[in-house]
Amino acid sequence: MPAIKPLPPLVVNQIAAGEVVERPASVVKELLENAIDSGATRIDVLLEKGGVERVRVVDNGTGIDADDLPLAIANHATSKITAAEQLFEVGTLGFRGEALASIASVSRLTIRSRARGAAEGAELTVCGAAEAVAAPAGCPEGTTVEVDDLFFNTPVRHKFLRSAQTEAGHATEAFTRVALAHPGVHFTLTHNGRLIHELPPCPAAADATLEPRLAGWRQRIATLFSDDLAAALVAVSSRDERPDGTAITLEGFVANPSQSRSHARLQYLLVNGRSIRDRSLQHALGEAYRGLLLSGRKPICFLRLDMPAALIDVNVHPQKQEVRFAEAGALYSQLLGTLRTKFLSTDLRAGAQTDR
Ligand code: ADP
Ligand code: MG
Repeated sequence: MPAIKPLPPLVVNQIAAGEVVERPASVVKELLENAIDSGATRIDVLLEKGGVERVRVVDNGTGIDADDLPLAIANHATSKITAAEQLFEVGTLGFRGEALASIASVSRLTIRSRARGAAEGAELTVCGAAEAVAAPAGCPEGTTVEVDDLFFNTPVRHKFLRSAQTEAGHATEAFTRVALAHPGVHFTLTHNGRLIHELPPCPAAADATLEPRLAGWRQRIATLFSDDLAAALVAVSSRDERPDGTAITLEGFVANPSQSRSHARLQYLLVNGRSIRDRSLQHALGEAYRGLLLSGRKPICFLRLDMPAALIDVNVHPQKQEVRFAEAGALYSQLLGTLRTKFLSTDLRAGAQTDR
């Protein structure tokens, strides 16, 4: 009988990386979420060879204290929660404290940071999670994380990577999802030296009426996709008051049926600032459009839901792309009802079905 032994930390992290880091796009997502959580107002993403050779994310957020830098890449170390109760009221995108440790175990990771107000910054390089020591470094306030040669030490996983072009596509999608959720942040995306997206900040107007309130978001959609698409979107909103005095708000855009696509890739759903996929809500969307679309056509939507954090369990999926709703049935009805009401009061011309 072989003896039972604890696994070495590197192996533990590489196992975790199997769930968190699937491809360069996962790195882009995790680094962007950290930048957002740090309160950054400007975030620059750089990719080389689809992100396989390099993913670099530069932010102007709070930065990390030099003393804390080794902890940032340590497993299960986080500044975002301190107790289990907080798992049910997560207000940040991250909380598991495993992304950087996982990424560091399957790449060459450099993190350089200067905390706000600190005299100087510090830098740490980890090569496949070998112990590293932070050294002083000159850098602006904020954090830069550079992930080079993803999966260099896990050849089997490296083999599953696709062409640089395909990986760049996935990474761009990850970028798009975060950029959509945070229209007030200035983002850029550069691939192989070419600027792919320059997204100036679109400030949110705290306006009482729907259209001005959503104007910034419409602008972000126009810059990310196209002016034509953004112009064809119809604003929707609803508010479901709950017995305890809190509310679930639904706000955003749906497209005229004539703008439908043959794929469902233009269905974006944000819940408390997190881009998620949810079969039930996707089904509600399809139901709302039932009878308005030719068969096989998929609607377009950009919707955001905001609700008390206690109504969502985000700790069900390592990449946090799926969540569990405490009141899934009520949400389904709210989405379906909001869209149906809108469609009844809007002149939806079932014009020519266009595709791109
Ligand atoms: P999590 O985001 O779940 O806490 P991570 O492994 O992604 O775990 O990050 C670990 C910690 O490192 C974070 O809790 C945060 O304190 C710090 N950190 C990571 N990236 C940044 C950043 N860009 N700016 C400031 N702090 C960061
Ligand atoms: Mg994180």
